[in-house]
Parts: sequence; structure tokens; C-alpha cells
Amino acid sequence: MPGRTTLVSGGNRGIGLATVRALSEAGETVVATYRDAPPPPEIHAVRCDITDPAQVEQAFKQVEEESGPVEVLVANAGITRDGLLLGMSDEDLGAVVETNLLGTARVVRRALRGMIRRRHGRIVLISSASGLSGSAGQTNYAAAKAGLIGLGRSLAREMGGRDITVNIVAPGWIETDMTAALPEELRREAAGQVPLRRFGRPEEVAALTRFLTSRESGYITGAVIPVDGGLGMGH
Ligand code: NDP
Repeated sequence: MPGRTTLVSGGNRGIGLATVRALSEAGETVVATYRDAPPPPEIHAVRCDITDPAQVEQAFKQVEEESGPVEVLVANAGITRDGLLLGMSDEDLGAVVETNLLGTARVVRRALRGMIRRRHGRIVLISSASGLSGSAGQTNYAAAKAGLIGLGRSLAREMGGRDITVNIVAPGWIETDMTAALPEELRREAAGQVPLRRFGRPEEVAALTRFLTSRESGYITGAVIPVDGGLGMGH
């Protein structure tokens, strides 16, 4: 079966890059988006800041011209701007919601055009365990990531009749640049609270996404699946 055109937002590093590699190994035709630093040269990439509607449109146009309509979307791009809500600036509140929720919604909406035409699509939204359990110091992030669950489940209902599935992956602590920025003591403490006693690897998130984007997963939609070492015990 020929590879499907697949787009991974934020595919230049971390969980996104591991996902690009996993889906390429599965035989898909994968394009990664990046902002400044492109992924390794063997990876097909387009520049796109998902907070800019014009860049989203341009990136999809380029992918469609070069590889055809996007049939598989992994909406992975995300940021944190941590701090207690009491002292949080409007800018930090807005940037996190704009990127993680609105930017993602924008990318998903654009991807739907081609999926609806083809009557086939696989969408995976990368949310977070924080969106399920909440996380002190991450009100903006947790709200945006919880928003992705509402977005994804509503869309799963809207698109179910067209063989378009929408699922949500909720990683816990994963070893990437995002968590490398945390103080060592906090990381040790966090790992100690995980039943598996360690942070996960990006590849362990990518493995689930690979399954959820495969043709075999065609009867799974609207699911929220943690990859968190048992941190939330399924919630
Ligand atoms: P990284 O910080 O390593 O990578 C973030 C990615 O998002 C980068 O590719 C970055 O691109 C991209 N990105 C950020 N802002 C934008 C934007 N405005 N437009 C386009 N791309 C953007 O993070 P992770 O790999 O850890 O995170 C990937 C996803 O997983 C995120 O959504 C994150 O919230 C989620 N997650 C991560 C967890 C963890 O423990 N690591 C836990 C739970 C969820 P650029 O290189 O240009 O900055």
C-alpha cells in the first residue's frame, strides 16, 4: 500500500521528530514542520509557525503541491510558559493558548479539507497528562491541553461518517528539551512519583501515535490515551 501524505507539526525535535521517524519507518510519506531550526536533512520539512494563519495555509499548499493532500495529521507543536496564575502575564496566558489550542485547531481545520475529499483521515492531537489531572504552575498549559480533548472529541463526532478518526495522546514526563529545562531536583522528584520510576522516551509516545494513525486503528476515535508510566492510571 503506498504511503499516505502525513504532516507532523513541530517535527524537527523531541516527540515530533521521533514521530516523524516512526511514521516514515511505517512507510508513510512524512513532512515535518519547523520554525527556525529544520530537522535533519533526510527529513522532508516545511517552515510553519502555527500561530500565523498565512504560514499554515502556505505550508499546506506546499505539501499538497509536492506530496498531495494530507491524510494523516499529528498535531504535536506546543510550548510551555510556566508560572502561578496569580502572577501570570497576559502574554504568557495568551501565547500558550494561542499555540497549543488555537494553533492546533487551525492546523486541524486546514487538514480536514483534503481528508473530507478523500473520505479518509487520521488525526492525532498531542495533549498532556496535565490536561487531565491539572498541574500547579501550568494553568495556561493545562487549560489549553484540556481544550484539545474537547476539540478532538467534538471533531471525532463531526467526522466519524467519513472514516476520519481523531484521537488524543496524553504524554506524562518525557525526555525532551521541554523537560530538560526543569531543575534537576524537580525532575528527580517527578520521576519518583511515576509508577515506572522514570521519564518516558519520545519514541515511546511515537509508538502509540504510529498505531493510532495506522489503518488497523480504524475503529478507535475520540479516545484519550496516556503515555505516562502509570502516573494517571488511565485518567
Ligand atoms: P519540544 O520543546 O522539544 O518541541 C516543541 C515543538 O513544538 C518544536 O518542534 C517546536 O518548534 C514546536 N513549536 C512550538 N511552538 C510552535 C509554533 N508556534 N509553531 C510551530 N511549531 C511550534 O517539546 P516536546 O517534544 O516535549 O513536546 C511536543 C508536544 O508534546 C508538545 O505539544 C508538548 O506540549 C507535548 N508534551 C510534552 C511532554 C514532555 O514531557 N516533554 C509531556 C506532555 C505533552 P521549534 O523548534 O521551532 O521551536
